Amino acid sequence: MSEYSRDFFLDLDSRDKLASFRDEFCLPEGMIYLDGNSLGAMPLSAKKRVADVVEREWGQDLITSWNKNSWFHLAEKLGDKIARLIGAGLGEVMTCDATGLNLYKLLSMALDMRPDRKVIVMEGSNFPTDNYMAQGLIKQLGRGHQIRFIEKEDIMDAITEDVAVVSLTQVHYKTGHLLDMKAITEKAHEAGALVIWDLCHSAGALPVDLNGCNADFALGCGYKYINGGPGAPAFIFVAMRHQGNATQPLTGWWGHEAPFAFEQDYRPANNIRQMLTGTQPILSLAVLECGIDILCRADMVEIHEKSMNLCDYFIDLVKAYCAGHGFSLATPRRRDERGSQVSFSHEQGFAIMQALIAAKVVGDFRAPDIIRFGFTPLYTRFVDVWDAVMRLKNIMENDLWQKPEYNQLTDVT
Ligand SMILES: *Cc1c(COP(=O)(O)O)cnc(C)c1O
Repeated sequence: MSEYSRDFFLDLDSRDKLASFRDEFCLPEGMIYLDGNSLGAMPLSAKKRVADVVEREWGQDLITSWNKNSWFHLAEKLGDKIARLIGAGLGEVMTCDATGLNLYKLLSMALDMRPDRKVIVMEGSNFPTDNYMAQGLIKQLGRGHQIRFIEKEDIMDAITEDVAVVSLTQVHYKTGHLLDMKAITEKAHEAGALVIWDLCHSAGALPVDLNGCNADFALGCGYKYINGGPGAPAFIFVAMRHQGNATQPLTGWWGHEAPFAFEQDYRPANNIRQMLTGTQPILSLAVLECGIDILCRADMVEIHEKSMNLCDYFIDLVKAYCAGHGFSLATPRRRDERGSQVSFSHEQGFAIMQALIAAKVVGDFRAPDIIRFGFTPLYTRFVDVWDAVMRLKNIMENDLWQKPEYNQLTDVT
């Protein structure tokens, strides 16, 4: 059936250079967690950090912490650390707000920088919040902008001379398809357009080289592969050459040139601090830093290599052991065309995923028919791939997914 065995994977784990990172995360006994692309696992250091921020910084030092414990500079300090993961420079990245809000800011800035152009190019099947935010923004602006929704095959052709901004997610949330950041950015610049890259499924999962690709703007969230905790602050990247050329629309006091001058009129800070709007969530930032710090100690090239191997083995094993059960691979087979996840489409995807979760293999389901498995090399073992597929095989061979309790819709899938 297959040349693989459980021992084969145990052996890979014994030679894995990243293996020890697993000890830095809280992972429930017996659970195989393949959903780090939705909510990364908790770094154990987060517990101590939260206790310290709550008890000492907030509890004892109170408001003096803004200076004494450098709360005022925490968001940009974390931005500089994230910059190392995405090929950005110092002073080009800020952690703040949610992904959707950061996209809103960047789209608005990009449209202001191309006042004579009215078209935004986006993938129709992108994660909905990106599209919803763009729709909300152009309605708010009321200046006749329109969104040209296309799918990946048509991106290059859609970038014409009337395009103001191309706004794309580098790794597709459902299929894991990876776009060619360099080629698309180049094409957009040739046409006189700007590009915004959503790195939600890239940052911390694969090497990203924003400046190497001459990217204009980017953003991403902190709670997926960066392991920054539920609802962690997102990040935003503005290339140094664009800073000061446009003003983000949410002109709160934290983006002011001199917030503590308390002036009547808004004056934008002409640096990355302008991306801030209001007071930042210090507890959330403190936890986010724990996730970032682990990633900064790991080698992104090694992470990527292990991620590709985990995904390849998973695809091979599903093919070998679950053939004939109706799964079709929705993720590109080629390594250079995918991120760190594997998706299959299956008519009974929802129920199958519920049965898997009950068997302690946690992935997720994306309507209408995609089951999604994220592979996070820092805490996923090779043997987990084997065990997950064996549990899936058991569910399929014994029709366990047909149980009524696995066919009841849940609020969050
Ligand atoms: C996860 C994800 C988001 C999440 O947006 P929030 O504002 O953080 O809720 C947005 N866009 C993409 C492409 C995502 O994958």
